[in-house]
Amino acid sequence: MFKRIMVIIIACLIICALTIVSIIAFNNDYKPTNKYVTKPQNALPFHNKTQGVTHVNGHVLVNRQIALPPSYKPGEDKVAKKQLKKLIKESRKKHLDLMITSGYRSYQDQEKVVKSFEKKDGKAKTEKFAAKPGHSEHQTGLAFDVGTQKPMEDFHEDFEHTKEAKWLAKHASDYGFIIRYPKGQESETGYNYEPWHLRYVGPQLAKTIDRKNTNLERYYHLMKKG
Ligand SMILES: [Zn+2]
Repeated sequence: MFKRIMVIIIACLIICALTIVSIIAFNNDYKPTNKYVTKPQNALPFHNKTQGVTHVNGHVLVNRQIALPPSYKPGEDKVAKKQLKKLIKESRKKHLDLMITSGYRSYQDQEKVVKSFEKKDGKAKTEKFAAKPGHSEHQTGLAFDVGTQKPMEDFHEDFEHTKEAKWLAKHASDYGFIIRYPKGQESETGYNYEPWHLRYVGPQLAKTIDRKNTNLERYYHLMKKG
């Protein structure tokens, strides 16, 4: 009888020991959570200029100060275009009337655009809304303008009040686009509010910029100082 009790006790001890060892051994698989991921929030963005083209953290950058060379002709970006088509398709499901009104423009195309505006509106006025050749984001192949079937609203601030623009402001980032020149940020972007001008930056950055209600210049500390 005593012997049997001893066997049971020893068996129990062995089982306990094995359980403890296995808990220690197998509980060691480290699962990172957001708590442990260190984001380089204060890290400075990485600037790089190759053959006259400026990249910031891998994104091509062009604005009133930073230009692209005439030789930079990447054409329409395939990924951006695919994402834009998806966006348009989704908007149609919601019975919206969005359409692409403008896409890739080379340096030379922009020259023609500017010249024709200058003829019609004069130099001073044109300078305010049209980018100089080399300074248009459309030269990156990553920028598109959208509008509706009603041409009166296209390229006009009234576009902001259409249900299409409201939907766009909410959902563009889902497809990796930002409203490149937001309202009230003209002094930072250098351009008037353009609710129709989309720039592809990928969903991750688009979501961040959207959430922070900011723009590429402020986000990447590119504003002219002083
Ligand atoms: Zn545009």
